[in-house]
Amino acid sequence: DTTAPVADEQAARADARELAAADRAHLWHAMTPYNEARPPMIVAEGQGAWIADLEGNRFLDAMSGLWCVNVGYGREELARAAYEQMKTLAYYPLMHSHEPAIRLAERLSEWLEDEYVVFFSNSGSEANETAFKIARQYQQQIGQHARYKVVSRYRAYHGNTMGALAATGQAQRKYKYEPLAPGFVHVRPPDPYRRPEGMDEAEYGRQCARELEETIRWEGAESVAAVIMEPVITGGGMLVPPPDYLRLVREACDRHGVLLIVDEVICGFGRSGRKFGHQNYDVKPDIVTMAKGLTSGYLPLSATAVRRSVYEAFQGTEDYEYLRHVNTFGGSPAACALALANLELLEREQLVERSRLLGERLRAGMEELREHPLVGDIRSFGLLLGIELVADKQARTPLPVEQVTRLIAACKARGLIIGKNGDTVAGYNNVLTFAPPLASTDEDLAFLLATFKSVMHASESEG
Ligand code: PMP
Repeated sequence: DTTAPVADEQAARADARELAAADRAHLWHAMTPYNEARPPMIVAEGQGAWIADLEGNRFLDAMSGLWCVNVGYGREELARAAYEQMKTLAYYPLMHSHEPAIRLAERLSEWLEDEYVVFFSNSGSEANETAFKIARQYQQQIGQHARYKVVSRYRAYHGNTMGALAATGQAQRKYKYEPLAPGFVHVRPPDPYRRPEGMDEAEYGRQCARELEETIRWEGAESVAAVIMEPVITGGGMLVPPPDYLRLVREACDRHGVLLIVDEVICGFGRSGRKFGHQNYDVKPDIVTMAKGLTSGYLPLSATAVRRSVYEAFQGTEDYEYLRHVNTFGGSPAACALALANLELLEREQLVERSRLLGERLRAGMEELREHPLVGDIRSFGLLLGIELVADKQARTPLPVEQVTRLIAACKARGLIIGKNGDTVAGYNNVLTFAPPLASTDEDLAFLLATFKSVMHASESEG
């Protein structure tokens, strides 16, 4: 009987059309303009580094969703860990305790290679909000009552809530929603590709760290509670600082009694080729925030890890002495059990090492595009890679966003999903980003490189 598959296919297509109509009627998509004509990509399943839409079109997801599916899609053992935990204990708040949260906090401390105490939330934004509150109260606990400001960097992204968005340094994400939380100050991030002419990279790193320290001083160091930064700026356009920069920032913080918060929401859990991004720079943050790769995106969970010495300042039983902060779902048993299974998987399959190796190979493969007329710069950090596209290599003029978008669409038409990052207001919306799962196979990497290069070469012959 040859009619049955045809009938099935027709039914499936009708279902897909109905679903697309319901989507347009009821679902508000993130970061997407109002546009009825634009058909949504309805993703049906994922396996390894690949996703498939309802019609069965397959794509290599070189962005790991939103930089988070570190172990890849379709890992049954993660689903099972959550399922088994839900059957035993589905929920209890963390004014009390449960084993998955205890074990996970202990494991995170091991991964951080020092004594940290962990507060759980649900998203990267909340992890950062929690860090700001801890930093402010910490300063009060030690008698530094005037310290409340948080210094962050232009072009950084730290989340969508009023505090995390205030820390964010990308004006286009902020101006329609202001006033945001007060008390946030921004400084220039290192962008070595666009450093002053004639200055070497090491000196540029020192200059950027000096600017940050001057900002602390000029604001009045006694009013500054914390500095927050990612090890490298990811969403703002893959800005990789000179190697000494983060250590110099750490030293500046120490000189002025300012806490250093490192946002590991993207760089954590092997993405950088080490367990955490800051471990590449040999610094110890006072507070580390994490989300995304903590569960590889399988369930919402985030964490704010605080050095034991900072936590110690919260000793005391008076009402004003403890952290007045709670969220209903943070550290839910199933999410913690799943995160533990995720960490075990990362270790068992040596995915941190795999990330470093794949990152080196991705970088080496992309270097062949250096001479391409649109490629201004290629930069990477573990298995994170950015390609800054330019219209004029000499003048480093950013490629207009329409052209960047066209290249991304051409990749997608050939089965490859990549990202676009940067900063619209700053005029740099021209950085292609790559962050495939750490568990990508050799064949996945070969497909990624071959597909992207064919798109770039086609763009060259089009002129
Ligand atoms: N910090 C960084 C560096 C991020 O990239 C993100 C999210 N992309 C966040 C914080 C906020 O995380 P969430 O979207 O989970 O709130």
